[in-house]
Amino acid sequence: MGKRIGIIGGGAAGLFTACLLKRFSANDDIEVTILEKNSVPGQKLTLTGHGRCNITNRKPVSELKKGYHEAENFLYPALKEFGPEDTISFFEERLGLKVKEEDNNRIFPVCDSAVKVRDAIVSYISDRTEILCDTKVTCIKSSEGFEVSTSRGEFNFDCLVLSCGGSSFPQTGSSGDSYRFAESLGHTVIPVRAALAPVKADDDSQAFTGRLSGVSVTAEVSVYCQERKTASCLGELMFTDFGLTGPAVMELSREIPSDITGSDARIELDLVPSMSDGEFDSGLQSLIREHPDTKITTLLSRFVPASVALGISALAGVADLYSQGFTKENRKKTVKAVKHLKIGIDQAPSIGKAYVTRGGVMLKEIERKTFGSKIVQGLYIIGEAVDIDGVSGGYNLQACMSEAYLVTKDILNLK
Ligand SMILES: Cc1cc2nc3c(=O)[nH]c(=O)nc-3n(C[C@H](O)[C@H](O)[C@H](O)COP(=O)(O)OP(=O)(O)OC[C@H]3O[C@@H](n4cnc5c(N)ncnc54)[C@H](O)[C@@H]3O)c2cc1C
Repeated sequence: MGKRIGIIGGGAAGLFTACLLKRFSANDDIEVTILEKNSVPGQKLTLTGHGRCNITNRKPVSELKKGYHEAENFLYPALKEFGPEDTISFFEERLGLKVKEEDNNRIFPVCDSAVKVRDAIVSYISDRTEILCDTKVTCIKSSEGFEVSTSRGEFNFDCLVLSCGGSSFPQTGSSGDSYRFAESLGHTVIPVRAALAPVKADDDSQAFTGRLSGVSVTAEVSVYCQERKTASCLGELMFTDFGLTGPAVMELSREIPSDITGSDARIELDLVPSMSDGEFDSGLQSLIREHPDTKITTLLSRFVPASVALGISALAGVADLYSQGFTKENRKKTVKAVKHLKIGIDQAPSIGKAYVTRGGVMLKEIERKTFGSKIVQGLYIIGEAVDIDGVSGGYNLQACMSEAYLVTKDILNLK
């Protein structure tokens, strides 16, 4: 009998592990079983990339690693061993899915279908992997190997891959079980919070964002906690009824503390990031001189979309004013509204709406060259379950793939 390998969770990380175990093993030396609680595997995978699946990102690994925040050095060996080019080759040559590159080095399948990606993976592994769906794992015990209790009875494995996800998008199945199992096996879990999530504004700011709902702008977005700027980035954002969303805001959402209350935190938007406050003020003054009979809102629409100009000038209390008689004080208020637009936040971003989870199984307890547990022999922990989250753009699926390779390499004793 071959080595019995149990994979807990048939999401991206679990499915990728089954793929690479098949790809790199000789015929009958392993028995692979995926235990998945949903009736179909890979539910979150089918939602990725707005249903198109942003598989990976073609940046050089030395650049790519910077997208994993505090975990960049931890993940580097995995990315070096199995990087974007390896993922692309695997998809094209083994899964038969040709890929294409889009902006910012993002890689998608040519078919533009995350469901087809999931189906191709399931079809690839099905002859070498038993996929047991509707099988919820309830308890894991380790002694000689692993005893796994499920809604469909007991299973025994020689080694175990814990890949049942994080806490984000729980409707896809990832409801935090990884953490309970890891803790029951002696691991420490760093408290989880949202990453890559939309941000809900407080009631006052919602009145503003709601009026601009659906409007997208490019801005410098900054997070302030107790009046201290803690993070910022330049990119696209969208105003919504509830607050803000879009790449730049989602990117920064992980920096908003999970325990904020009242007016502890805010987001500040610079809607004309290409100019300093002084340059913007001078630019506005020149326009005022050139167009003495024009409404300020009209002049502002030279810098920002017309709907935003309207909202901003109302906020600054200058919406009905014309260039003539526009005072220095009025200009000051306008510069503040355009370059330092404050959006109040009175609650942390929701993990339920987050694309990924920040926090998870502590990296110090995981061997970075194998993703094996330093606490339990034969246990591997990968995917969103561990304390790694990447920026958007294919980084999170690539992390799952690179980690799955290290696990495969260790289990199969590959050189
Ligand atoms: C809307 C959305 C879009 C995204 N788009 C992208 C993208 O384009 N590119 C990218 O790189 N990343 C993207 N991500 C992030 C990416 O999907 C995740 O990083 C990745 O799915 C994590 O894989 P995982 O296997 O760790 O967890 P999951 O994919 O969540 O899989 C965990 C699996 O474990 C199962 N499970 C949980 N508990 C149990 C249990 N007790 N017993 C048995 N099974 C269990 C779950 O049902 C689930 O199938 C996106 C995420 C979301 C939510």
